[in-house]
Amino acid sequence: MIVRFLGTHNAESKNTRLVSFLVDGILAVDAGSLVSELTFAEQKKIKAILLSHGHYDHIRAVPAFAFNNSDRTTKVFATPEALDILSSHLIDGVVYPEFTSKSSFLQRATIKLVPLEFFKREKIEGYYVTAVPVQHPLDGVGFEITSGDGKPLFYTGDTGPGLSSIWNNISPQLIIADLTWPNRLAGAARDAGHLCPEMLKEELIEFRRIKGYLPRVVAIHMSPPHEPEIKREIRELAKLLETSINIAREGDEFIL
Ligand SMILES: [Zn+2]
Ligand SMILES: [Zn+2]
Repeated sequence: MIVRFLGTHNAESKNTRLVSFLVDGILAVDAGSLVSELTFAEQKKIKAILLSHGHYDHIRAVPAFAFNNSDRTTKVFATPEALDILSSHLIDGVVYPEFTSKSSFLQRATIKLVPLEFFKREKIEGYYVTAVPVQHPLDGVGFEITSGDGKPLFYTGDTGPGLSSIWNNISPQLIIADLTWPNRLAGAARDAGHLCPEMLKEELIEFRRIKGYLPRVVAIHMSPPHEPEIKREIRELAKLLETSINIAREGDEFIL
């Protein structure tokens, strides 16, 4: 399984992109930068899109993707709340076509919205995907994604602390974790439903206590102005836990 990061930040600029990554080039997870980082040929290979929740930085490129790939139907999987937000705010027939039905502009429905249920394992394009609820507004979910040959990763989505209840249900070889702010902004992180390194530490210690091992960890969703501080704190955390914790940059690939 190859994970390719398209966007790994919570703010967009020439050098930073909103959250999105690809699994083996065919499964897109979150759509902050789904089109801006891919050629048309690469976009064509994407067979399904998973959305962790309805915040703008995670759904924003869905209409642009639909516009670029209107010769086929792409399934978009998310909770009913996230799909409602997408339908009512982005592909609403006002700012962009609805994309979910045929029209004079579209030969076919370009997007098929597929609701996900918490903890229900779905087979999506050869992968097993389970959406699990996390501590974030708008019914935020994380995803366990397992390849056909049995390699699982867990993406936390945007989340605050409290993942330990999930650890019993999953056994990932890679965790892709929200890490938005440094430790001195822990209060803001808690209020907004995000993690700082100290909170991630608690989650990983609990993971190791429950599961008896620690997987490789890759952090994303960083706030760009705080990146140097987050990096310093993550280096110390990796040393303390004696494990590999990387900060993903746009374009990075991790093989599982
Ligand atoms: Zn969010
Ligand atoms: Zn976000």
